[in-house]
Amino acid sequence: MVEVNKLNKSFGDLHVLKDIDLTVKESDVVCLIGASGSGKSTLLRCLNFLEMKDSGSIKIESEEIDQHTHDLNAVRQKVGMVFQHFHLFPHKTVLENVMEAPLHVKKQPKVQVKKEAQELLKKVGLSDKENVYPSKLSGGQKQRVAIARALAMKPDIMLFDEPTSALDPELVGEVLTTMKELAEEGMTMVVVTHEMGFAKEVADWAVYMHDGRIVEVGHPDELFTAPKEERTKNFLDSVL
Ligand code: ADP
Ligand code: MG
Repeated sequence: MVEVNKLNKSFGDLHVLKDIDLTVKESDVVCLIGASGSGKSTLLRCLNFLEMKDSGSIKIESEEIDQHTHDLNAVRQKVGMVFQHFHLFPHKTVLENVMEAPLHVKKQPKVQVKKEAQELLKKVGLSDKENVYPSKLSGGQKQRVAIARALAMKPDIMLFDEPTSALDPELVGEVLTTMKELAEEGMTMVVVTHEMGFAKEVADWAVYMHDGRIVEVGHPDELFTAPKEERTKNFLDSVL
């Protein structure tokens, strides 16, 4: 589904991603962990072509994506993204937020888009909030709208960048439940998260990044309880 080889990315003199190799198979859930500044967000943004790699290759569904020749908007439709800070349109209702991209980017008929948006809101448990503006929602509800909005484009892969980090603790569970349901339906997911419980329960693979490199990859049970690398162990000691 995703295959990254020798990916490198710098911002000026700052070498942020160093020879990243990563393979994500269909229906895999991969949790990405690592200290702040280790390059996790930049890696996700490269996978969604919000940032352009300097070198290396990125294949999405076996096709190598060249940022100069491919229609990146078309590629981005296959790769949904959910951010820490929701990024909802404040002047649009919940339903309009979910309808926006299929209507204006994919130019699908409004009746169909509305029906599908309503189904997605039902799926994330927010049917009763269709006509409400985001400012009236809790953080957990906003994030579930953001997930529905990303799903509205029918992506093949979903990327989550610390989706629960901005939430009050009591609202984290509802978002993780929605993500878990998505995983159980077979969605391919890459999730940057510090929620070790979620990672242990849902992830097929955990990936530990340090200073722009992937240091260790393993099943969550093994990586969290018996890391092979000293740096992974030190990181886990600092967060658990
Ligand atoms: P993480 O998500 O693991 O905290 P990031 O990928 O956000 O790490 O950042 C990795 C490094 O790249 C940090 O040092 C950060 O300051 C730097 N960085 C990220 N985005 C930019 C940017 N657009 N311009 C310059 N530096 C950036
Ligand atoms: Mg980040």
